[in-house]
Amino acid sequence: MGQNPKEVDQPLTTPNGTLTENGKFFIAAQSYKMSLVKEPHKIKVYEKIKEGIWCYKGFFNLVDAKIVNTGKRNVFKFYLKPVEFISKKKEVELPHSRLIPASVKVEVWARDKGKCVKCGSTENLHFDHDLPFSKGGTSLTAANVRILCMKCNLSKSGKILSLPPIFLS
Ligand SMILES: [Zn+2]
Repeated sequence: MGQNPKEVDQPLTTPNGTLTENGKFFIAAQSYKMSLVKEPHKIKVYEKIKEGIWCYKGFFNLVDAKIVNTGKRNVFKFYLKPVEFISKKKEVELPHSRLIPASVKVEVWARDKGKCVKCGSTENLHFDHDLPFSKGGTSLTAANVRILCMKCNLSKSGKILSLPPIFLS
């Protein structure tokens, strides 16, 4: 019988030796900490706001990773810092401006009828910024926000990153 995954250490590698998703994040964070890479890895982060509905929180720098003991087992802990792209060379931190106010979410949800505006899917939806922040897009008006499903959003801009997005539930 298999062990309860909640009671064993989170693995760095799979049984056949390839990195797990946690392992990839861990190695990426360590390589930044040890100055093997100049820039921290950028990760797209989504936050669960309701069952099946995800809200894009923005890009975060993966600045550190640790293995901590919860008393029962070792788990990975990742440290993320919000970033916003201005250009590839310059970054500024705008920790609050990317949050979409609840009133805007309600308005967008009603306007887009609770469906992905591209394919009409009603699964894994989240609020997406139509205009990137780097081009002056604001989350304060419904005009710049739309509903996309995860698939359509990732096909839009998933190429920038080598690491998968993080979903905070
Ligand atoms: Zn879609």
